[in-house]
Amino acid sequence: MKRRLVLLGPPGSGKGTQGELLSADLGIPTVSTGALFRDQMARGTALGVEAQTYIAQGHLVPDRVTNAMVQSRLGSADAVQGFILDGYPRNVPQVGVLEEILATQGLAIEGAVSLELPEDLIVGRLLKRASIEGRADDTEPVIRERLAVYHRETEPIIDVYRSRGLLLPVDGLGTVSEVADRIRRVLEIVA
Ligand code: AMP
Repeated sequence: MKRRLVLLGPPGSGKGTQGELLSADLGIPTVSTGALFRDQMARGTALGVEAQTYIAQGHLVPDRVTNAMVQSRLGSADAVQGFILDGYPRNVPQVGVLEEILATQGLAIEGAVSLELPEDLIVGRLLKRASIEGRADDTEPVIRERLAVYHRETEPIIDVYRSRGLLLPVDGLGTVSEVADRIRRVLEIVA
């Protein structure tokens, strides 16, 4: 069973929701860099204060900050048996850093589940989420910027994982449970 996983997909593709379901299935934690940053911001830590300006504009938090946070989180006891990364890596350099972090323990990513969703649905889904969750970075101009950053910085990592034979594409259209079932099938949790 694959237990060191990356979840890929544009903002609003359901990575967070699917990550939580998969976490319950596999008994391993999700590691969401967005959630870790939001927690740091809510607690007003130095890291949170630094991240805030980037997040509010829809830009990526600098790699130096993000990579150190991920390295520390993956070193926690509960991540030893596996983890589901949601929102990391988000650019090609982060793919390499993640590889190095794991390689020091003789480990590697075993699969990259990529949620695929038509572009025109994404903005609507994010605006709907904004009205439910009230996330400060879910306003329309910031959503547009996050999508531009996604295309420019994050989308290229799909090809990187594909070329390594790790990419597991999943149709992200449908209900939460339909998509969850597709993920279980590509990961061979169910037949
Ligand atoms: P998310 O909840 O995954 O949409 O992340 C919210 C925001 O956190 C993003 O728009 C970025 O500003 C920041 N962020 C999350 N993950 C990363 C990452 N891997 N690298 C840089 N910034 C990130």
